Amino acid sequence: MSVASNTAASPLAPDWLQVPADLNALHEPMWAGSVVRNGAGALTVGGMDVQALKEQFGTPLFVMDEADFRSRARAFKDSFDAAFADICGGVDVYYAGKSFLCTAVVKWVEEEGLRLDTASGGELAVAARAGIAGERVALHGNNKSDAEINRALDMKLGRIVVDSLDELVRVGALAQARGEQAKVMLRLTPGVHAHTHEFIATAHEDQKFGLSMATDTTDEAGLSAAEEAVAAAAAHPGIELLGLHCHIGSQIFEPDGFALAAEKLLRFLAAMQEKYAITMPELDLGGGYGIAYTPVDTPRPAADIAAAMAAVVRSTCAELGIDAPRISIEPGRAIVGSTTFTLYEVGTLKTVRVDAPAGSGGDGDGGNNVTYPRRYVSVDGGMSDNARPVLYDADYSAVLASRTSAAAPQLSRVVGKHCESGDIVVRDVYLPEDVAAGDLLAVPGTGAYCWALSSNYNYLARPGVVAVRDGSARLIVRGETEEDLLNRDMGA
Ligand SMILES: *Cc1c(COP(=O)(O)O)cnc(C)c1O
Repeated sequence: MSVASNTAASPLAPDWLQVPADLNALHEPMWAGSVVRNGAGALTVGGMDVQALKEQFGTPLFVMDEADFRSRARAFKDSFDAAFADICGGVDVYYAGKSFLCTAVVKWVEEEGLRLDTASGGELAVAARAGIAGERVALHGNNKSDAEINRALDMKLGRIVVDSLDELVRVGALAQARGEQAKVMLRLTPGVHAHTHEFIATAHEDQKFGLSMATDTTDEAGLSAAEEAVAAAAAHPGIELLGLHCHIGSQIFEPDGFALAAEKLLRFLAAMQEKYAITMPELDLGGGYGIAYTPVDTPRPAADIAAAMAAVVRSTCAELGIDAPRISIEPGRAIVGSTTFTLYEVGTLKTVRVDAPAGSGGDGDGGNNVTYPRRYVSVDGGMSDNARPVLYDADYSAVLASRTSAAAPQLSRVVGKHCESGDIVVRDVYLPEDVAAGDLLAVPGTGAYCWALSSNYNYLARPGVVAVRDGSARLIVRGETEEDLLNRDMGA
């Protein structure tokens, strides 16, 4: 039996994964702005090194660069404002709170001139605790309860994004009963979807969200669900119809899908304004802007996307002869995702030897017993602090964070400590061969949909989140304790 070298590209690795020229290097698009290695080789963020963070807060830990969050938020606001200045006087940027939400982040969002998107009563409770003005908050959701709608009305939200005809009737009735008008946007499904790194356009919508614009599945009067909702909203005394909304998906790199959705919604908006003699002053184009999770992801700067979207809005409004509505967007991941890495401590290591997959260039037929090593690197968290690999097959990357290493690259799989073989944090990454128990690993790009989706599976305590800035770190969400884990258990 022959044993293949483990310093070259492994046939077990996916095609997209290159052996890094320098394992200690940080691929810049994946990391927060202040992350660098210090003179001793340890990763530092905002001037704090990872060993100090581990000693102060323990691991696993979400480590967020506050200045980076603020600058990404500002970049969206400034570049969209600039691109749309002559079209509609600027853009309202709603940070999508579901990606990561706590009171500190709401305050940063407000201080940077953004607004806040929420999708539940609990998220509204965070907004209320942070003290953000209700008029700067939006509420989403396909199944809002009466209590959530009333809470939105109590907080005088700037917009409730209505998802269905059912809900339109309920929101209208609840507002009317209070002698008020709810400020409503209608969420439409324009038939444009993010599909991996491309978009697809379809006439039909087979999903739970939104009002369909398709005209071949209509009511008796021949109206699409979207048009029925416009007509009903315009006529309802409990509703002030602000305009239309869409959200075409997530982790989208190219602006074409956003531009196509904008064009479809503008055409519909113009037709509805004319037919029903109404004005809809607002158009929300949702979120979904992609970030770099691995070196092959190539996100566009916010300014490029803004320019492409502005060009379509400008030309479509000119062609239709309408005043452009005020545009809003809802980025979540693209603001918070890259601000944060998860810091883990390495524990158990094991290496397995695996036949190369057929057609990989290795010997895939098992014929002459050439096998290749895959090393499993276990860390002290896992699917409870990052469910995205399990949920979406999401790819991540990782580096040795507590030191540099001159050892050879070895194809590795970073796994958690849960009782599931699918408990994978980073499916494929080259790490130095000498990674050992006690080393710290950092997984970048974990600011969005990681803490937010975290669980207590296996009674693991959910990690805390620290914000680092100017050489000091503070908890913005503390980690759970064993007492937290036990305190809802009623005891026999
Ligand atoms: C999830 C969501 C967003 C944010 O998506 P990102 O991919 O994080 O930018 C915005 N709007 C709506 C309606 C959403 O559901």
